[in-house]
Amino acid sequence: MKHVEALAAGVRAGRRRDIGRAITLVESALPDHRAQARALLRILRDEPAPGVRVGITGVPGAGKSTFIDALGVRLIDEGHKVAVLAIDPSSSRTGGSILGDRTRMAQLAASDHAYIRPSPSGGHLGGVARATRETMLIVEAAGYDVVIVETVGVGQSEVAVAGMVDTFLMLTLARAGDQLQGIKRGILEMVDVIAVNKADGDGEGEARVAARELTMAMRLITSDPDARRPPVLTSSSLTGKGLAEVWQAVLDHRTWLETSGGGLEERRATQQISWLWALVEGELGDALRRAPSVRTLRAGLEADVAAGDLSALEASGQILRALAHDLPGMLT
Ligand code: GDP
Repeated sequence: MKHVEALAAGVRAGRRRDIGRAITLVESALPDHRAQARALLRILRDEPAPGVRVGITGVPGAGKSTFIDALGVRLIDEGHKVAVLAIDPSSSRTGGSILGDRTRMAQLAASDHAYIRPSPSGGHLGGVARATRETMLIVEAAGYDVVIVETVGVGQSEVAVAGMVDTFLMLTLARAGDQLQGIKRGILEMVDVIAVNKADGDGEGEARVAARELTMAMRLITSDPDARRPPVLTSSSLTGKGLAEVWQAVLDHRTWLETSGGGLEERRATQQISWLWALVEGELGDALRRAPSVRTLRAGLEADVAAGDLSALEASGQILRALAHDLPGMLT
């Protein structure tokens, strides 16, 4: 594993090529790559406490990439190093990756202090989430103290992002139609800060009205009077107005977590426990797909179940027994 040590050293030194190679390694699902990735992450784990981890969600066109571009450049001017990652399981289906695309963040992409990585393509959400989470550890080890994880408002990927960031920011638009219908309620329950975006020109007044309406609507989301309510702000990446306030709200949320909100450490600890089980389930799922005897049985069992010759319960028992037989040799 000597080259893993060299790779870890390169990552720590902030060398782009090594960061890219390390990310490619954690994105791979091949068993020997997984073993190397584990070794790499074991070395990198001894890094100092990471900086800020922020998730950003919003429907396509909400202005996420323009916002991240404008905000990222400001943060770099303040001395931060900014990494932008993405979770977009759909990108594998639609072909090209959209989220985390460098061309969508031209200013940021030009900076030496930014690292932009599109969503890993291919595979199921669990695999994409695992790769992104491990990529986060790599960029943090490389000195990126602000990590932004971008996703798109479809539900499941938000759950994955919420499980890896400290603060979740949602960008929405004044004309997102009926505010609460346009946005899935489940997503609203996950977000910590909301910004009604494109609050400029003719849209500024409308954005303010929408922000007020959303503030009131958020009161209805939870019946607990003591619960923290996400602040609703307005922002424009074109004029820059509101960007500083949105960032401040992100930092305030983090301070709240550290002080009264049940604790940043606790949030991260809870995330680690969920993560532990996600990893176990992910590995088991992969083993199930790869197990030779399961593969042999599969087509026949499916046909029997479809034809009604075998019950699903009976077939599942056969598959699990086959998996149990192959498993000892598969888990490293
Ligand atoms: P994304 O799909 O959420 O990443 O959205 P984009 O950042 O690609 O923006 C979608 C469109 O909205 C683009 O045409 C942008 O130029 C425009 N846009 C983004 N931010 C703003 C803003 O703050 N104000 C206005 N007026 N337009 C914006």
